[in-house]
Amino acid sequence: MKFGGTSVADIEHIRNVARHVKREVDAGHHVAVVVSAMAGKTNELVEWCRQIAPLYDAREYDAVVASGEQVTAGLVAMALQAIGVSARSWQGWQLPILTTNAHGGARILDVNGTELLKRFKERSGEVAVISGFQGMHRETGRITTLGRGGSDTSAVAVAAAIQAERCDIYTDVDGVYTTDPRVVPRARRLAKIAFEEMLELASLGAKVLQVRSVELGMVHNVPIFVRSSFDKPEDIDPRGIPPGTLICDEEEILEQQVVTGIAFSKDEAQLSIRRVQDKPGVAAAIFGPLAEAHINVDMIVQNVSGDGATTDLTFTVPAADYRRACETIEKARSSIGYERLDGATDVAKVSVIGIGMRSHAGVAAQAFRALADRNINIRAITTSEIKFSLLIDAAYTELAVRTLHSLYGLDKA
Ligand code: ADP
Ligand code: ASP
Ligand code: MG
Repeated sequence: MKFGGTSVADIEHIRNVARHVKREVDAGHHVAVVVSAMAGKTNELVEWCRQIAPLYDAREYDAVVASGEQVTAGLVAMALQAIGVSARSWQGWQLPILTTNAHGGARILDVNGTELLKRFKERSGEVAVISGFQGMHRETGRITTLGRGGSDTSAVAVAAAIQAERCDIYTDVDGVYTTDPRVVPRARRLAKIAFEEMLELASLGAKVLQVRSVELGMVHNVPIFVRSSFDKPEDIDPRGIPPGTLICDEEEILEQQVVTGIAFSKDEAQLSIRRVQDKPGVAAAIFGPLAEAHINVDMIVQNVSGDGATTDLTFTVPAADYRRACETIEKARSSIGYERLDGATDVAKVSVIGIGMRSHAGVAAQAFRALADRNINIRAITTSEIKFSLLIDAAYTELAVRTLHSLYGLDKA
């Protein structure tokens, strides 16, 4: 059972979480709980780091931001004890959850579930309350964190390590919706979604699950169930099926839609290099230095050159890397050879996702028409087997998402 920030936002919510856990314990389950920091806590800690040093040491950043989850694990364990459920808290390093040393965005390498399983047996179901988001670097033993939203990944990794029947992600919505329900009130809850689709949805902007948690669930075959912590614990029958979304293998989904969901991200920036020389080796001269600077390039569009001599090349990078990307290109100007570098940060990427696209033609064409009818200009397009993404002006994000949501019949009745 994983509880996110809003689910443990204050003492009253923490008591509520304890009652959810007690319900499952009373139903005879062995339970491992993974908790996030209380809502807003991680942001506050990150901000403190920035105020002390804009270019902080990533190891110390991890020492600071991992503390939020330590507090919640202890409080949830206490809340459980207070209602007669035996419980013990665990920090990442105590299990341990071993990670790489990429401080601030470490990857889990291994979770040792032996001690938890032993205690389930010997201490007749003592609940383990584990701090999410944090781990320990395998060689140095230092505390690491898994990137924002990383408690989801902690939860799935722990579930895999103890071969849990299920990994329930309790959050502030009662499942995965066809798009962010805060932006489109007519979004519908999906009963099931395939791992591949959830992977795309998460990596293209839907923050309901961290991408890496979906990857882990897929690789280790952990069924992930997204559900609400705001339902009253007492109203839920632990043997029934509560409202929520199961993330599962494609084969388990009988009624497959062509389009399953729509994601969007305003966290994009566009760079356009004007009048680049149109000759072999130019793409390498542009994208080589960006790769060396660890800047992730996403969409790439190259125009067909009219005169055979020069062309325009447009690509996107994460908004946070925009300045660095511009500097990197300008530094490489002499080896690239171009006339002008233009950029924009007021852009957004809207993506349409669905496994059904594999076998249906013309899905993207419908979107181009619908957006044209709304006078929304498309700056760049990318496609893959089960999704396509469109880069547009950020001001039109909500309009574009709502338009496409209706177009593909996703609005709830
Ligand atoms: P937690 O703190 O529990 O981890 P998050 O804030 O990280 O919760 O994720 C839940 C939020 O994700 C929801 O409140 C919702 O606004 C947002 N979200 C974005 N896209 C979707 C989607 N397709 N379905 C459900 N929620 C979504
Ligand atoms: N507390 C961390 C964050 O805010 C991890 C999480 O909530 O999943 O990013
Ligand atoms: Mg989250």
